[in-house]
Amino acid sequence: MHEMSIAVSMLDGVLQAAARAGAVRVEAIEVEIGAMKLVVPEALQAAWEAVRADTLADEAVLKIEEISAWAECRQCGRRFEPDIAYSFLCPDCNRADVEIVRGNDIVLKSVICQVDRDPSAGEGTEA
Ligand SMILES: [Zn+2]
Repeated sequence: MHEMSIAVSMLDGVLQAAARAGAVRVEAIEVEIGAMKLVVPEALQAAWEAVRADTLADEAVLKIEEISAWAECRQCGRRFEPDIAYSFLCPDCNRADVEIVRGNDIVLKSVICQVDRDPSAGEGTEA
């Protein structure tokens, strides 16, 4: 499943960020999903809930922001929102010589962590 591999790499990034921050728990994360990635948000939510188990992020809420795609025509420079499922034709030139300039990425925008300064709380957590 496409969404499962995305969720796994999201979790990698989240846990790295949490480790750098010295977090004891990840409370929420926010990702931007470009429309070109053809991600089904419900499927990504389900995948996230599966991969986050038994990690610092096992209760982390996933917030998905969908970013619409933009294409730029190489002929006339027009930017337009392509119909991803059907066509990338420039509305002016009627040619498909376009470059995707937005909506082609998955970006981990924020990781909200809880950092516990109490030294006794972190004991026994060996990675
Ligand atoms: Zn054009």
